[in-house]
Amino acid sequence: MIKIEWFSEEMQNEYTETIAKKIREKLKKEILKFPDDIAELFREKGSVSEQKIKEFLKMKFYNVENNKALNHYISRCTLISHCLTDINKSDFNKWKKTNSSKVISDYLDERFKKYNEKYPENYPLTYPTDASEENWSENFKNKIIDTVLLEPFKTVFNYDIINDKFRHKLMNSLNVPVCPYCNRQYITPWDDMEGNKKSTADLDHFFPQSEYPLFALNLFNFVPSCQVCNSRMKLSRFLDKNGNRPIYPYDENFGDDAVFKASTTYGGEDPKRLLEVWLSESIDDLKITLKIQDNIDEQYKDKIEQSNNLYHIEKVYQAHKNYVSELMLKKRIYDDGEYFKTIQNIFSGFEHEKLNQFSEDEDIVYNVNGKKLTITKKQLELFLYGYNWENGQDSTRPLSKLTYDILKR
Ligand SMILES: [Zn+2]
Repeated sequence: MIKIEWFSEEMQNEYTETIAKKIREKLKKEILKFPDDIAELFREKGSVSEQKIKEFLKMKFYNVENNKALNHYISRCTLISHCLTDINKSDFNKWKKTNSSKVISDYLDERFKKYNEKYPENYPLTYPTDASEENWSENFKNKIIDTVLLEPFKTVFNYDIINDKFRHKLMNSLNVPVCPYCNRQYITPWDDMEGNKKSTADLDHFFPQSEYPLFALNLFNFVPSCQVCNSRMKLSRFLDKNGNRPIYPYDENFGDDAVFKASTTYGGEDPKRLLEVWLSESIDDLKITLKIQDNIDEQYKDKIEQSNNLYHIEKVYQAHKNYVSELMLKKRIYDDGEYFKTIQNIFSGFEHEKLNQFSEDEDIVYNVNGKKLTITKKQLELFLYGYNWENGQDSTRPLSKLTYDILKR
């Protein structure tokens, strides 16, 4: 929900220098198994090119979404993942009895019917059909997933190619102090006993490796996140049933398009009622909602909704009711101008002369011991609320989006 800066040019180059050669060696062996349009992305004058691999690894997300072959690849993986949900473990026992490759392949043809109707020629699926293997009963689904979805991409773009140290270096280079998905958890660099740079962040794959293995090593796909958001991603489906992805934190944020609101069960958004919640400590009467604006682009709306579903944003934010009710009280005092009056008193010990008339919207300029001293509106807010927003966003502290929405809207 919070926008973050992408990798520096320098880091991008270091990254691609480090791994492109190794990928080229693997790709040379596997490229004939790639669909033609994907294989072409890595070829220069007919042979596998290190330069092309580098370009692919640091491709911007915008260019990925607008590349015909890659866009097509995303659709295919999504459809395969949908088909895979129809396969269940108990089915295996039926096959085992027959021990017939024909039965298995008929069964899989039926499960992948939607796929086979849509991509009949250029992107055929090959299934494992050998029913005689001993350990099939435990692994049969994995084996199918491996064959129809992961290989040959998994072998070439293997995430293990990046060692632990380099992964931490990548993450720390981004300087993201709070999880951009939930804006709740700090993600922090630290030094271990040997002085190695570590990070409490997980390196999340925006497109999950388990469904889109071609993107396992793309920089566009690496998002530093908290462990909760990273593992939640693995449990839920990345795209909604209409193919909408969540908000992409390098390019997009909730901003003004989705806003946290506080309301009471009996008085709606009436500020007086909201204040009563705090005064009477009846926190159960408070509700926090994520309101998506009506007048925005439909597709963007769907993406925000998908983010909300995937990271359970609205649900987990109910845990911050107490915090919100405290904010409401502070806001009330602030709106009454009490806070500014208090600030004036803080400087009463100085020999000072206030140069401008008190106003909520202006910086306050003091003359302290002959020097002009300005207290900016921003500093006052930082002092009171602990945040420093720029264009409605403070990516350095948890709950900054919630705080901004409650106080400033
Ligand atoms: Zn998170």
